[in-house]
Amino acid sequence: MKHIVIIGGGVAGLGAAFKVKRAADEGHDVTFTLVEKDARLGGKIATEYVNDEWDGADGARFVVDGGPDCFLTEKPACHRIAKLTDVFDDELPTDDARKRTHILSRGRLYDLPDGVMMFAPTKFVPFATTGLFSWPGKIRMGMDLFIPKKRWPEGERMDETLESFVERRMGRECLDRLAEPLVGGVHASDPAQMSLAATFPRLLEMEQKYGSLMKAFIAARKKVEEMRKKYPPKPGEKKRTFFTSFNGGMQELTDAMVGAAGIENIKSGVTAESIDKRDGGWTVKLSDGSTVDGDAVIVATESWAAEPLTRPIDTDIANALSGIPTSSSATVSVGFRESDVGIDMNAFGVLCPLNEKRSLMAATYSSTKWPGRAPEGKVLMRGFVGGPHNQAIMQETDESLVNIVTSELRSILGVKGEPLFARVFRWHQGMPQYTIGHLDRVELIEERCSEIPGLALAGGSYRGVGVPNCIESGERAVSKVLGDFKIEMAEDQVEEKRLY
Ligand SMILES: Cc1cc2nc3c(=O)[nH]c(=O)nc-3n(C[C@H](O)[C@H](O)[C@H](O)COP(=O)(O)OP(=O)(O)OC[C@H]3O[C@@H](n4cnc5c(N)ncnc54)[C@H](O)[C@@H]3O)c2cc1C
Repeated sequence: MKHIVIIGGGVAGLGAAFKVKRAADEGHDVTFTLVEKDARLGGKIATEYVNDEWDGADGARFVVDGGPDCFLTEKPACHRIAKLTDVFDDELPTDDARKRTHILSRGRLYDLPDGVMMFAPTKFVPFATTGLFSWPGKIRMGMDLFIPKKRWPEGERMDETLESFVERRMGRECLDRLAEPLVGGVHASDPAQMSLAATFPRLLEMEQKYGSLMKAFIAARKKVEEMRKKYPPKPGEKKRTFFTSFNGGMQELTDAMVGAAGIENIKSGVTAESIDKRDGGWTVKLSDGSTVDGDAVIVATESWAAEPLTRPIDTDIANALSGIPTSSSATVSVGFRESDVGIDMNAFGVLCPLNEKRSLMAATYSSTKWPGRAPEGKVLMRGFVGGPHNQAIMQETDESLVNIVTSELRSILGVKGEPLFARVFRWHQGMPQYTIGHLDRVELIEERCSEIPGLALAGGSYRGVGVPNCIESGERAVSKVLGDFKIEMAEDQVEEKRLY
């Protein structure tokens, strides 16, 4: 029997655990122990239910996601796991009838113009008529159609920062008013540091293929429209929206993964303090004084937590891990009575560009975006604070963060009334920063691991922060260590019905 020790019970570690369980179900002689330092499993995926105790509604509740509130629909891993764990029918599309995004610019709110994909306009009239950009700014963006593509020296990795790419193709105004809040903000990353090759390699490829981002995105939009016409949802099938969540919040997925992998093999509330490589295996020392012996170890923690664990095993890996910077952030969710809030809630949220100098990076109207997030007659909003440009805010108390977010919602959106409740989720060093050189660091880590049988790393710090990427990274780690044992698994068999 091969025993795999998995350190970290976020979605990557759980993805690994569930994959080992599937290998065992397939008849391979393998098992796992997962060790998680927190009492709760799921890592950054955290959902809390707040009962509606204000107007006597029985059983009604708010569904508050503290970390991710969705995943990208086009990435198949979450759907596949949802199918395998029987929560696929609980997938929740966004309420696109109410889809609008506000952007704060020069102290005013503008709607994101229809047809903008990433940060490239693909429809002329909404772009020409929006007040979000100045005319010189629009002309500069339009020059993307004529600026020749960048030529990269033979053999050099195509990579540059988001800032340099957008400035080069579409101009500074597009960066400041659109790309930074939309793209940099989503990654909670500094556009001046963010590696495009590690985050959005498709943008670099599109430039090479089409010579223009606008041309590339117009082609992409047409393709999506054709696909929608060709494959309309079948009767009874849910609408396919850009983002997907779950009726019970994102933790529904990780809870289902815990159940499917087997809670009996999971130790929560204990920290892995060290990993020792010994003849023919590994010993993981835990904070409760016990040890777990295994034939392989998968480190599925944040990169900064993996660094001290891997240093005694391989200093190159540890040094590469210490080269991955992180930033801290917090989400502050606030519930209101709909009658008190006093604003038009028909929008998914607001983005606040850095140059507006606000404490709020963005806010989501959670109960508009996701049906069922607030009881009848109530609304739920969620603000983001922190990120690489405002780490100081993380020193504030929870009470102060609630006051900051509430007063930002008042001054930016005109929100009135008093919140019924607030929930603060802090993510200390929670967002890995994929800076220039990130892919070199990840390749080095993978190369070193390939030379150390029974060791693999997984998680959002390496090849994608999105939840589906993290699941796949956990699964790849299992394939790696099973490969070290010369065990090969079959592909997952999921129903042929539309996966995503
Ligand atoms: C505020 C926020 C919003 C986000 N929104 C989205 C979104 O909408 N969509 C999306 O796709 N992605 C989103 N992300 C990114 C995504 O949530 C993360 O990339 C992903 O959840 C990370 O999963 P993970 O398993 O790699 O790491 P984590 O969830 O961080 O799990 C690592 C686990 O390891 C444990 N651990 C660490 N050290 C030890 C140790 N020594 N011993 C034992 N256990 C240890 C930790 O306690 C933790 O539970 C968001 C992230 C944040 C912070």
